[in-house]
Amino acid sequence: MGDSFRAIVIEDVEGKQKAALKDLTLADLPDHDVLVDIAYSTLNYKDGLAVSGKRIARSVPMVGGIDLAGTVAESRSADWKPGDKVIVNGYGLSERHWGGYAQRQRLKPEWLVPLPAAFDMRQAMAIGTAGYTAMLAVMALEDAGLTPEAAGDREVLVTGAAGGVGSVAIAVLSKLGYKVAAATGRPETHDYLGGLGATSFVAREELAEDAKPLEGERWAGAVDSVGSRTLAKVLAQTAYGGAVAACGLAGGADLPTTVMPFILRGVKLLGIDSVMAPQALRRRAWERLGKDLSTEKLAAIGSETAPLTAVPELAGKILKGQVRGRVVIDVN
Ligand code: NDP
Repeated sequence: MGDSFRAIVIEDVEGKQKAALKDLTLADLPDHDVLVDIAYSTLNYKDGLAVSGKRIARSVPMVGGIDLAGTVAESRSADWKPGDKVIVNGYGLSERHWGGYAQRQRLKPEWLVPLPAAFDMRQAMAIGTAGYTAMLAVMALEDAGLTPEAAGDREVLVTGAAGGVGSVAIAVLSKLGYKVAAATGRPETHDYLGGLGATSFVAREELAEDAKPLEGERWAGAVDSVGSRTLAKVLAQTAYGGAVAACGLAGGADLPTTVMPFILRGVKLLGIDSVMAPQALRRRAWERLGKDLSTEKLAAIGSETAPLTAVPELAGKILKGQVRGRVVIDVN
């Protein structure tokens, strides 16, 4: 690779954050200990926000991309050596630190995780933060007592089903033996979601209606990417002792609920954060993905690959809910 390489850089243009493809050199990169030659990044909802200038970047110029997979080129850390294959998810990339929408990046050693044996770099990015967050959510539900036996005939609900978090959550939950209901606003994705293991479907609008404090007990548990009225509805419909993992805010950051599901049904609301999740939890989540996400389903989820140049347009699309499953970004 020559001296200069390409990156999607978010900059301030007349008071607004704008992203554009730029040429950088090694001298432009932050002075962290590990230089990585990046192979792939990916597109998450948060990338959509950052690249569309929705103030995810806390300082500019900022290289976007919250995920990356690549090979260590140089290392001043004893923990990593040239040739190591690594991934990074979160840790403030694209927010406080330069991220994965670049052909090369310098990173702190403690952010890196070895590429899990079960996946190649493209597959790891087809999973990305969205998929690893879905796994964190499933693990949190398990830690709260959910098992296929405990769920019995009740389904586990996944909202924002056709998105990245939702798609992986469905694939994993179905592999683990749960009956999975998929809530989507896109009926045209039913075949896709059925292929991932969803056994029934709920219309997005149905869950977006105002919730009563308690409604009929429907769900053994839930993975929610949507927040707002949808999360309130899901809480009101969760069965006695069930748990709901709150991952996202695709429908809004508010939560117009009451305490009734908590104090009358013992429903548990579990917060999921992928960005600062400790290393041990990350490694556990990636190991579980290696076991509980089949490569066939992963291929069905993350089959689209796009170049760096497509990122600004894709960013707008993911914010409009027009991206199905996962998009891998080939930075080269
Ligand atoms: P995607 O855009 O891929 O998926 C979000 C899905 O939500 C869409 O596909 C759509 O599903 C649904 N949706 C979109 N807009 C609305 C709306 N207005 N009302 C109801 N549903 C809507 O994003 P990701 O899967 O990457 O992320 C999902 C959420 O999780 C985001 O809010 C993201 O910020 C958050 N997140 C949080 C993380 C954490 O650490 N907690 C990590 C990763 C993501 P459908 O078409 O099926 O209805």
